[in-house]
Amino acid sequence: LNGSEPRPIRRLQESLINRIAAGEIIHRPASALKELIENSLDAGATSIRVTVKDGGMKLLQIQDNGSGIRKTDLPILAERFTTSKLSTFSDLSRITTYGFRGEALASMSHVAHLSVVTKTSQDTCAWKATYTDGALVDPKSGQMTDPKPCAGNDGTTITIENLFYNTPTRLSALRSTSEEYARILDVVTKYAVHNPKIAFVCKKAGSASPELSTPSNSETPQTIRLLYRDSIAKELLSVKLSSKDRPSVENDEGMDVDTDDEKDDPESWQAEAHFTSPNYQGKKTVFLLFINHRLVESSRMKRALEAIYHGILPKGAAPFIYLSLQIDPRSVDVNVHPTKREVHFLNEEAITERIADALQKKLAGQSQSRAFEYQT
Ligand code: ADP
Ligand code: MG
Repeated sequence: LNGSEPRPIRRLQESLINRIAAGEIIHRPASALKELIENSLDAGATSIRVTVKDGGMKLLQIQDNGSGIRKTDLPILAERFTTSKLSTFSDLSRITTYGFRGEALASMSHVAHLSVVTKTSQDTCAWKATYTDGALVDPKSGQMTDPKPCAGNDGTTITIENLFYNTPTRLSALRSTSEEYARILDVVTKYAVHNPKIAFVCKKAGSASPELSTPSNSETPQTIRLLYRDSIAKELLSVKLSSKDRPSVENDEGMDVDTDDEKDDPESWQAEAHFTSPNYQGKKTVFLLFINHRLVESSRMKRALEAIYHGILPKGAAPFIYLSLQIDPRSVDVNVHPTKREVHFLNEEAITERIADALQKKLAGQSQSRAFEYQT
């Protein structure tokens, strides 16, 4: 090829564009599962059951008892940018659902075989629909096929089969099935900890007993105790704090009066943390961070909280920390790409410092009482 001669510019085929875009949203079975769990939570489910075959590459199924999907919505369900959660731009700043971009199911239909069984409480039977490349197309026949009536409970079951069957580079980037399964379990574990009222089950297809199972109507510390090692469970401390508690004053229950002013204050926030005492010495920090109920990452926050333990834990030992932070939706940019998990928000530094202080105080109290115990 002559280097000085420009090549002609061509428009990419629609199907190729969609496949590339889908691969950017769905990296691996665990990222598909995160989207599916969030959809079930958005649908108000109180029970979420995950079934996995071959690390989710062969099959990933999630069954919920949420609102279901109206039959009339099924034709556009897997089209890109179709959502029931957002209609105007101003909705974005007060978004309380996980989803709003309408990209997850569409993406899955471009890189996997997607089928949906769903029933609303109004429906007399469930409806089954299969999707290929965003449309109601049966992957076996390649023909358009209308949803078919079938038996089913209220709620939605979504099945993803043969993930990345048509994107070999994505497929080859995946690790072993056991590694992918471990990542799936990790996602379910974290959402189960953060949603203790909801019953979660995660199991391998064909296996009798689930790897993970949580009851409904539990509490976060109980769920942590159930899902993490005993050594963590035994050493769990908790703090709750908010922008209303003054930094220098001890948290006084009597002062906890909700005024309308504070409710409307865009800088108000609340935090709840469950973290291990110095008696627990893990190999690597386990940090679960939820901001406005989204599982996110913040390396700054992680570093700030780890730093508290530096003086307390022996070298090389690491804590477990679960932190749920709620801030005004207006002070965090939610319009981020689905895969962009590292977040930034208003007053990040000040809030982090307040939380770190609270943890430090609790830990200091803890080590004093321990020293005291050892003396006697
Ligand atoms: P988003 O969540 O951003 O709206 P998705 O592609 O994840 O986009 O889902 C598209 C739409 O499908 C949702 O807005 C919702 O109306 C519907 N949906 C998806 N999963 C479920 C579910 N488990 N239960 C009820 N409705 C669902
Ligand atoms: Mg979604």
